[in-house]
Amino acid sequence: MVEEVKVRKIKDGTVIDHITSGEALNVLKILGIPKDYPKTPVTVAMNVLSAKVDSKDIVKVEGRELKAEEVDKIALIAPRATINIIRGFKVVEKKKVSIPETIEGVLRCANPNCVTHFEEVRSRFVVEERSPIKLRCYFCEKVMRGEEIVRQF
Ligand SMILES: [Zn+2]
Repeated sequence: MVEEVKVRKIKDGTVIDHITSGEALNVLKILGIPKDYPKTPVTVAMNVLSAKVDSKDIVKVEGRELKAEEVDKIALIAPRATINIIRGFKVVEKKKVSIPETIEGVLRCANPNCVTHFEEVRSRFVVEERSPIKLRCYFCEKVMRGEEIVRQF
């Protein structure tokens, strides 16, 4: 039997569970922790044994619920993640992240000659593969994968 890790319960905030192993620190980067939120209490568990997958990371953020844009970014690096909103020690909302067919405005194209850098064009990427992520720029067809995406967060 796999024993789930016991982490202190939080009163209000967000628990991001089933994060792809090794991606917890990138999740913190997406959430602007500690840069934008130096005082926010955060618990990080990495490479935790899980019954569903080999291992996973977990991030608990106190006193904060995530913005839709943050959830969309987390989906790109952790497509199996679940977001649990906690209020008064109870899970009031549980949702799975999802990757849309196309991603607009969130990322910049890695091709320096792409039209999106020179004109008032909103970036747009077609999702070709989800896990691991593979995106193709709608305008110049440049392919972007893992590191190139994470570097922008
Ligand atoms: Zn492009």
